[in-house]
Amino acid sequence: MSRVWNFSAGPAALPEEVLRQAAEEMLDWHGVGIGVMEMSHRSKEFVSIVEQAEADLRELMAVPANYRILFMQGGGLGENAIVPLNLMGEHKVADYVVTGSWSAKSQKEARKYGTVNIAATSEASGYTTVPSMAQWKLSADPAYVFACTNETIGGVEYPFEPDLTQIGRGEVPMVADVSSHILSRPFDVSKYGLLFGGAQKNIGPAGLTIVIVREDLLGKASPHCPSAFDYKTVAEHGSMYNTPPTYAIYIAGLVFQWLKRQGGVPAIEAQNIAKANLLYGYLDGSGFYENRVDRACRSRMNVPFFLKDESLNDAFLAGAREAGLVQLKGHKTVGGMRASIYNAMPLQGVQALVDYLRDFAARHG
Ligand SMILES: *Cc1c(COP(=O)(O)O)cnc(C)c1O
Repeated sequence: MSRVWNFSAGPAALPEEVLRQAAEEMLDWHGVGIGVMEMSHRSKEFVSIVEQAEADLRELMAVPANYRILFMQGGGLGENAIVPLNLMGEHKVADYVVTGSWSAKSQKEARKYGTVNIAATSEASGYTTVPSMAQWKLSADPAYVFACTNETIGGVEYPFEPDLTQIGRGEVPMVADVSSHILSRPFDVSKYGLLFGGAQKNIGPAGLTIVIVREDLLGKASPHCPSAFDYKTVAEHGSMYNTPPTYAIYIAGLVFQWLKRQGGVPAIEAQNIAKANLLYGYLDGSGFYENRVDRACRSRMNVPFFLKDESLNDAFLAGAREAGLVQLKGHKTVGGMRASIYNAMPLQGVQALVDYLRDFAARHG
């Protein structure tokens, strides 16, 4: 068996150690004679798996005691509807900061449920930057402010944590879609009312969505909100109101344990900085490739880049495949290439990519 370096934006590479452990436990988890996929979600074995996963995530992200961690389904796009259904409340106005494809989709979905005010947008730059807090224009009484703090497609990451107290609006809950950089860097959870992320970028298999929500925001759902998506109902049932994505939670739990063995979020952040510096550093100095994102807002997780001579794109991708580097084609709306280098991608994989980039440039430059 030979594994390749997988730069997929999601579902994305998982730590090999985790996959090996899951393979070993596939038929018989801890001597119970059945695998995790076959267990009742109400069994004491599965309840121990979910409780450990939650405790590990709480520890890794230093989630304060007045926040609930929910294991949900529906993905990031599901949350685009579930958030307004839970939080828009009676005044039905919410403010959105638009910095790329994902937040643009979020604000569009929210319009089904109420009034959306665009508090700031970087559309004029072609979504290559992030408006500073000073540029955010909030409406008079929004139910929440929404941002996507890592735009997976554009490769744009907030260089600051949104903090509404800085603009005198600390009473408004900040909601963030952190799907593609959760656990890649520290977050001060106390600055947010709610954080959500699909698991398939930086945590585990598709099908699991993580929601971290401040307790005072529970119980505000619209009467039209499906019970299975009402945060209060999900919280009261310990994420077991309906059958949760059990196997995805189990794999996420193994990833959390793996992350703790790496030294937790500060250690993985240091790795992520080293990986990003290696890749951007090479691209910038090459004269052959380019990244077009504002340097201060470049994502550590998703690195879109272009060959200056785009007629070489097909040869580039074919050669990459031969060198054992896959999923480098850029998103169709952006074009060019994109390398996603989440937590599970080791420095060695990024080095292999840079070696190939250099070699390809030398042959075609
Ligand atoms: C991938 C992604 C989504 C979409 O997630 P689905 O699970 O496909 O619904 C939403 N937001 C961000 C930032 C993403 O990276």
